[in-house]
Amino acid sequence: MKFKIITIFPQIFDSYLNEGILKRAQTKKIIKISTHNLRNWTHDKHKSVDDTPYGGGAGMLMKIEPLYVALKDIKKTSAKIPAAKKKVILLSASGQAWSQTLAKKYSRLEEIIFICGRYEGVDARIKNFIDEEISVGDYVLTGGELPALIIIDSITRLLPGVLGNDTSAQDESHSQPGLLEYPQYTKPEIFKVKNKQYIVPAVLLSGNHKKIKDWQKKNQRLTSRAGCREAAIVKQ
Ligand code: SAM
Repeated sequence: MKFKIITIFPQIFDSYLNEGILKRAQTKKIIKISTHNLRNWTHDKHKSVDDTPYGGGAGMLMKIEPLYVALKDIKKTSAKIPAAKKKVILLSASGQAWSQTLAKKYSRLEEIIFICGRYEGVDARIKNFIDEEISVGDYVLTGGELPALIIIDSITRLLPGVLGNDTSAQDESHSQPGLLEYPQYTKPEIFKVKNKQYIVPAVLLSGNHKKIKDWQKKNQRLTSRAGCREAAIVKQ
C-alpha cells in the first residue's frame, strides 16, 4: 500500500515513521510512504503556497494552483492503479469523522494521497479534485500532518503481516463498532504501593478458559458514540 503526503513540512514525518511497527512495515515493503513538499510546485521566488482569503477574514489560505499541479504530477505515478483502489484525502476539521470502520475499509486500497492543510485551511475549490475530506476529531489542529499520521498508522496495523499476531487487530477496541477492549494485566500479580495492594482479578489466574472468556466479555465497555447500539447487540 502506498501513502503519498503533500505537505509544506515534510520533516515532521521523519521521526514517527522511522520507529516501531511503521518502520518495520516499510522495511518489509508492506507499505511505502513518500512526502512531497508543496513548495516544489510553486514558481515565485518566495515559493508561496498561501494568500489572503476573498471576502476578508483572519489568516491565510492555501492556494489552489500549487496543490492542483502537485496532485496532477503525483497521480501520474499511479495511473495504472484502478480508480476504486485509490483515494485522495483532504485532511480537514470539517470532514467525515475517521473511525476504525473507515480504517478497515481503506486498508483494502492500494494508494492514498493526503493533502495536509496549514494556515486557515485550503481554497474550497480543492474539493473538486479530492475523493474525501477526513477529520480526526472535533477539535482544530495547526496542520493536517498529525491527522495524516493517525490515518496511516491506523490503516497500517490492519494490513496482513504488520502486527506480530494478525489476530491482535481483530480483538481490540473498536474492531466491532462501539465495543471497547476488556482490562488487561501483566506481572506482578500483586502491585504494592505504600500500604495498598493492587491485585489482578483472580479469574485471570484460574486457568479456566471459559471463565476467563466470560469475564473478558463482561468487562468490555461500550462507547457512548455512534455504533454503540450495534455493539450492544454483538455483546448480548
Ligand atoms: N479554519 C479551519 C476550520 O475552521 O476548520 C481550520 C484550519 S487548521 C488551523 C489548518 C489545517 O489543519 C486544516 O486545513 C486541516 O488540514 C488540518 N486540521 C486541523 N484540524 C483537523 C482535524 N480535526 N482533522 C483533520 N485535519 C485537521
